[in-house]
Amino acid sequence: MTATPAWPPQSAPRLHVETPLEEGVAVPVDGNPAHYLISVMRVKPDDIVLLFDGRSGEWAAKVRDIRKRDLVLEVLSRTKAPEDVPDFWLCCAPIKKGRIDLIAEKACELGVARLQPVLTRRAVVDKLNLDRLHAHLVEAAEQCGRTALPELTGMVKLDALLKDWPDERWLFFADETGGASLAETLKDHPGPAAFLIGPEGGFDPVEREAIRAVAKAVPVSLGPRILRAETAAIAATTAWMAINGDWR
Ligand code: SAH
Repeated sequence: MTATPAWPPQSAPRLHVETPLEEGVAVPVDGNPAHYLISVMRVKPDDIVLLFDGRSGEWAAKVRDIRKRDLVLEVLSRTKAPEDVPDFWLCCAPIKKGRIDLIAEKACELGVARLQPVLTRRAVVDKLNLDRLHAHLVEAAEQCGRTALPELTGMVKLDALLKDWPDERWLFFADETGGASLAETLKDHPGPAAFLIGPEGGFDPVEREAIRAVAKAVPVSLGPRILRAETAAIAATTAWMAINGDWR
């Protein structure tokens, strides 16, 4: 008896596309994604590629019409329902290129619903290339099996973020000057949440006061050592996901 091949094939490349997906749709692919499929993955006609559009789950598609720099994929059937990630936002100050890219990549892999850049007084970077961050989110989502990207919002000033803080969402504040012990605090505060992480230079005292004044703010410690901002962002997200997220 011959074994039934796995469906969808485990080696199938995964690609995020903007085209809304449904059965029978032809998806034209060019540019970098086409280069990836044609020259790196060396797809052949009838090979299977997995697609997601961020809204409708994941779909298997068949390779058609390969040309030098572009190809067409024909959507066959849905392979995954739209994802349901935990209601967790990562709010972090912009930090240097490379390090913020790492935050974006890991936030996506860890299952963050929204990545919210927040401008603070001691930030050494005050502009963010959102297109570059978006590209890192796409790459991470393709690799880790997500069917949607984390929502990437434009940068807001800390004051504005705090002023409109939603009533129903905890604001865990990673305070390097000290706060409650993380694991117990997270256990005691289930439900929609966000973590706020400062820049390389930390928060200034006025900012710290303003954050603590928010009704839903919960200052927490990430331990006795000062972590780099990107380490703090990844560690805080990991802890929240393990305790209150979907790692059960
Ligand atoms: N320059 C600052 C450190 C900033 S670390 C100083 O020397 O004090 C960057 C951010 O990571 C901080 O603003 C905080 O949000 C988070 N962070 C780092 N280590 C932390 C810890 N031990 N506890 C809580 N938050 C921490």
